[in-house]
Amino acid sequence: MVTAQTNPLLGDFNTPHDAAPFDKIENEHFMPAFEEAIKQGKADVEKIKNNPETPTFENTIVALDEVGRLLTRTAGIFFNLMSSETNDELQSIAQEVSPMLTAFQNDISLDPVLFERIKAVYNKKDELDLTTEQETLLENNYIGFVRSGANLSDADKEKFREYSTELSKLSLDFGENVLKETNNYQLNITDESKLAGMPEGALEAAAGKAKAKDKEGWIFDISMPSYLPVMKYADNRELRKELYMAYNTKSFKGDEFDNQKNVKRIAELRLEMAKLLGYTNYADYVLERRMAMNADGVYGLLNDLYEASYKVAKEEKAEIEAYARKNGFEGDLMPWDWSYYSEKLKVEKFDLNDEMLKPYFELSSVVDGVFGLATELFGITFKENKDIPVYNDEVTAYEVFDADGTFLSVFYTDFHPRPGKRGGAWMNDFKGQWMDNGVDSRPHVTIVMNFTRPTSSKPALLTFSEVETLMHEFGHALHGMLAKSTYSSLSGTNVYRDFVELPSQIMENWAVEKDFLDRFAKHYETGEPIPAELVQKIVASQNYLAGYLSIRQLSFGYLDMQWHTLEKPFEGDVKAFEVSAWKKTQIFPEIDGVCMSTQFGHLFAGGYAAGYYGYKWAEVLDADAFSVFKEKGLFNKEVAASFRKNILEKGGTEHPMILYKRFRGQEPKVDALLKRSGLL
Ligand SMILES: [Zn+2]
Repeated sequence: MVTAQTNPLLGDFNTPHDAAPFDKIENEHFMPAFEEAIKQGKADVEKIKNNPETPTFENTIVALDEVGRLLTRTAGIFFNLMSSETNDELQSIAQEVSPMLTAFQNDISLDPVLFERIKAVYNKKDELDLTTEQETLLENNYIGFVRSGANLSDADKEKFREYSTELSKLSLDFGENVLKETNNYQLNITDESKLAGMPEGALEAAAGKAKAKDKEGWIFDISMPSYLPVMKYADNRELRKELYMAYNTKSFKGDEFDNQKNVKRIAELRLEMAKLLGYTNYADYVLERRMAMNADGVYGLLNDLYEASYKVAKEEKAEIEAYARKNGFEGDLMPWDWSYYSEKLKVEKFDLNDEMLKPYFELSSVVDGVFGLATELFGITFKENKDIPVYNDEVTAYEVFDADGTFLSVFYTDFHPRPGKRGGAWMNDFKGQWMDNGVDSRPHVTIVMNFTRPTSSKPALLTFSEVETLMHEFGHALHGMLAKSTYSSLSGTNVYRDFVELPSQIMENWAVEKDFLDRFAKHYETGEPIPAELVQKIVASQNYLAGYLSIRQLSFGYLDMQWHTLEKPFEGDVKAFEVSAWKKTQIFPEIDGVCMSTQFGHLFAGGYAAGYYGYKWAEVLDADAFSVFKEKGLFNKEVAASFRKNILEKGGTEHPMILYKRFRGQEPKVDALLKRSGLL
């Protein structure tokens, strides 16, 4: 018999702020906790469905928001550990539990009885005198069901289901084809003279690959860590071209791994699903739930940036070409020459590398600097609390307090790589924020990194990009920690996807401000503050080839939008379609045999369809928002308070454009981004 007495996941935690009792949780507690939590969640749902009273906002919409609290708590702990502190046992539990969770979610989101209740509330929403947040919650519930087909006739529901089943299969096929193409290619080189210019580390890795396969010499492939160093450093032009062609012709060779049919069919299925739901194209369907709102919003942004970037990109190309000629290059500069010459010119121009900066970014001073910034801007303070259990000795747990001493959040930091932690950096929460009968239930937020460890002789010294990463994830954490919503599904980072990177990316802006760096970026041995020339070099090198990089991202955005604004199925040639979509962003001559669409996983195997623009959109937002600080003062408390009140506290309780305009006074413009990247 599993009870709260024998399973700590089921009872009260009896820890400070009810933080997860990591010191008591064992792997074997999870499965029984999940089983019990799903049982309780199902009972919650049944209670809503079987309620004999007429559906109301409280007994249906609010009740749904509160379904499965135990499940949310258990899953929050489990999936964080899966990322940060996993082991074989947890992984096999995940295999078992994931389909159970999907089934539970589907039972809710496809239930016709639930939908009828939600619809009944929705249809009388104007008589209900709801707050703005309540309106959003109702709308999210109703529209969520409608967008998955709940309002369709039975025949159309059947079609919708068929389309979506085929779509998920083809997306998987698409991704698998690209992966197989990537894995199938390798280039074995035995003549060392062909590898002139290559850095030691890349050669070692390539020799290791050869050895693992019992081959002589070096093996290169088209995985990023192998491909990039060749493109950047190999003096041998033929070698660069060979790898470039291997990389850029993936799934476009007319063989069993070809994706041309998949591209066309995926675009068609998306269009048909959108049409069933009453939209003219797939982009309109996606963008209805984005800050950009519709295709015009996206094209407006892409075109504004294009106008400013294209000319600069052409100039940059001319500059690289001139540099290449000065170094003996003849003929037309091709894509496989670009990284090689631009990297060499970058080294000449900026004379800047990680080792020069790292001594100024000792991890604990950077953390002090970042916490200090939050204190100065928002008045919040961080206090380590060793009584809060942690899942690994390397994790630090803080209590975060507001200016008036009110408790805001538990905050965990976990900085170094370990076996059992996945790569990358992220923010997450163990517990979200919501109100329970007027009582504010505060969040438990974590940031996890993979920064270089300290050694016996040196503390942990960060690269500049690691400093930016820390600022970025800390920005997401603020969004979570300062959340002030009533309903959990609208709280913190639960916002539209093209809005969620604003709080994170805006923080990165401070990282290149001398006035901020001077507070903490001091040499770890001498205490000398970071020299102004170094900061200038960071800024200048960040804007290196800004025009080219901007055009490249825009070209992907245009391609995405072209595929997903189709209003009838595309019958023609995939490559010709692409060439036409890219006509105005073209910098290099067209090359036969290469195709982006057939290997563009973001669009055809992932969640970025009609969403690729989001990368640029987020940059526009963060630059535009930060320009207010630039104008009124980097540490201006009124601006910070307005950012907190209108953006950070609000989560997804209102449409992001409304929130943004309340902070900014107007819609975002591209000017600040162009200025920051030197494109104005
Ligand atoms: Zn982010």
